[in-house]
Formats: sequence, C-alpha cells, structure tokens
Amino acid sequence: MINNAIRYANERKQFKTAIANFGAIKHKLAEMAIKVYVSETASYRAGQNIDDLIEDLKANGMEDGAAKLKALEQFAIECAIMKVHGSETLDYVVDEGVQVYGGMGYSADAPMDRAYRDARINRIFEGTNEINRMLIVDMLLKRAMKGELDLMTPAMAVAKEIMSIPDFSSDEEEGVFVPEKKVLRNLKKAALMVAGAAVQKFMMTLSDEQEILMNVADMAIEIYAAESVLLRVEKLIGNKGEEAVALQKQIALVYLHEAVEKVASAGRAAVTSFAEGDELRGMLMGLKRFTKIDPMNCKDARRQIADAMIAENKYIF
Ligand SMILES: Cc1cc2nc3c(=O)[nH]c(=O)nc-3n(C[C@H](O)[C@H](O)[C@H](O)COP(=O)(O)OP(=O)(O)OC[C@H]3O[C@@H](n4cnc5c(N)ncnc54)[C@H](O)[C@@H]3O)c2cc1C
Repeated sequence: MINNAIRYANERKQFKTAIANFGAIKHKLAEMAIKVYVSETASYRAGQNIDDLIEDLKANGMEDGAAKLKALEQFAIECAIMKVHGSETLDYVVDEGVQVYGGMGYSADAPMDRAYRDARINRIFEGTNEINRMLIVDMLLKRAMKGELDLMTPAMAVAKEIMSIPDFSSDEEEGVFVPEKKVLRNLKKAALMVAGAAVQKFMMTLSDEQEILMNVADMAIEIYAAESVLLRVEKLIGNKGEEAVALQKQIALVYLHEAVEKVASAGRAAVTSFAEGDELRGMLMGLKRFTKIDPMNCKDARRQIADAMIAENKYIF
C-alpha cells in the first residue's frame, strides 16, 4: 500500500506539480514507511527471540511441541505488543493511503478502498487491541507476582531517583546511539514509575482501572518498538557502515522522538487520573525528567526519507 501511495503521489498532478512534491504528502509517505519499518523490526526481533528459545530448549532435551509452546508463552507479552502495533500501523498506512489518493481513495476503482476495509478487522480479531493492551500489563504484573520478573527493585530505584538531584553527568559510554540509549533507559523508568504508582494505589482493584492499563500498555508498546528499531539500526551500522544506512538511522531517530512524546502523554494521562497534590507534582516532574530528549529536525528527516522513496517510486527499506 505504501508502493501504491508513492506511485500515485508521483503520478497525480495538482497545482501543476506532482502531489509527491508537497511537504504534507512527503510527511505522510515518510510516516507510513517509518511505522512499517519499526513494526517489521519489532516483529523480526520477537520472532527471532522465539525461534532462538525453541532451539535452546530443544538442545536441552525438550520435545519439539513442548519447546514451541514454552517459547511462545515466554514471549507472549511481545506477541501482544506486536499484535497491537502491527494492526495499528496497518490501519495508519491504509488510512493515510486513502488520503494520498484523495477522492479516488474513496472509490472502489483504486486499491486503497479495499485495503482500508480489509485492514480494519485486524484491530478486532486475534484478541481485540483493548484486550491485548490489558494482557500486556496483566502478564507483566503476574510474572512479577510469581517472582519470575523483578519489577519491584527497579521501580523502587526509580522512586528514589525522583527524590534525588537529577544526574547531569555526560555519557561515558562509547558507540552508536549513546544518548538515545539513555533516552530509552529513561523511558523505561517513566513506565516503571507510572505502573509502580498505579499498582501501589489500586492493588487488587487495578484491573478495574482499564484506562490506566491502556496508558501503561501504550508506554510499553512504544518503548519496545523504539528499542527494537535502535537495536536493528545499530546492527546495520555495524555491518554496513553509517553512510549506507543513513536513512534507516533517520527512521530510528524520528521514531524515538515520536515514542518519547507518546510515552510522556500516556504517562501524564495515567498519573493525573489517580494522583493529586504533591504526589502528582512529583510524578509529573519525574515524567518530565524521564521523557527528555535533545530536539531534532524531524521534518527534514522525514523529507529525506520520503524523497528517497519518491525518487525510487517505491518503499525502499
Ligand atoms: C472477519 C472475522 C473473522 C474472524 N475469524 C475468527 C476466527 O477464525 N476464529 C475465531 O475464534 N474468531 C474469529 N472472529 C471473531 C473475533 O475474534 C471476535 O470478533 C473478536 O474476538 C471480538 O469479539 P466480539 O466480536 O464478540 O466483540 P466484543 O467482545 O463484543 O467486543 C466489543 C468491544 O468491547 C471491547 N471489550 C470486550 N470485552 C472487554 C473487556 N473485558 N474490557 C474492555 N473492553 C472489552 C472490545 O475490545 C471491543 O472494542 C472473526 C471475526 C471477524 C469479524
């Protein structure tokens, strides 16, 4: 559908120029590609993790069927994340695809109309996206309660960090995406802070607070997706050199910026719904601290991504 949108944008002329030359259209084409690239990346990551675990379990003597079930169970949270992210990416792409086609997008004579209708079911079946969002948080908390996942220690460390003076020391790490990895670590702290406070506040009745569960799930989804694309592009840079994957790097950076906004917004929606006074002020300050990122010119980055695809008349990533 991205290919269709690019081809149409290159063909369709308005105001004596191809609509692909308009910034508003470039923004759409770039965002479609960014979301697809990131969703594909996170799916590859989860898929490879599952395959690797199956092989590991089998190498340790587990029978094939049992190994597959165990590996899928182990990565059920990632699968729920991908179900939501993938289906919402698809809907985004076909919706913006219709928009690129303008009035023709509404017509059954062009391909977008059918894609738009076909895509819509994906947020409903295989577990609606509401149910999958709740499952993401539910499975995380159940694992923590069973002692399989230590959420308490990092959550308490974050609570302590909020009370302390911010760390302004410069990064001593070396390598690719050093500041971005710090941003990711902070996003995880933001999610832990919000989820930890919600668990403390509601305890056994947290399941009745579905709006908060949705907020926390959105934070987890964005963090997983952003981390996945940074890891993929880091690997690509290692294999091919930075120049060869300059556009993929832009994709990762733009996505990270968008993820920061989404995590901050979901976090704010959650904490303002259950905290007040000094507690709320403290958490809002913590959120601000943990969702800081150096600004970048995302518009220019999107233009570069779109221009490269427009020149090739197709999705190139
Ligand atoms: C084209 C198509 C193909 C399908 N194929 C299959 C198939 O092969 N196999 C199969 O088993 N099923 C299949 N289904 C069924 C599909 O899985 C269900 O439609 C889906 O699970 C949603 O259930 P529902 O339609 O009863 O909606 P409902 O459960 O009534 O949901 C309606 C809305 O309420 C929300 N909701 C429901 N419960 C809660 C809750 N506890 N908390 C918060 N929100 C809630 C939902 O998220 C949704 O937004 C198919 C459906 C379609 C349309």
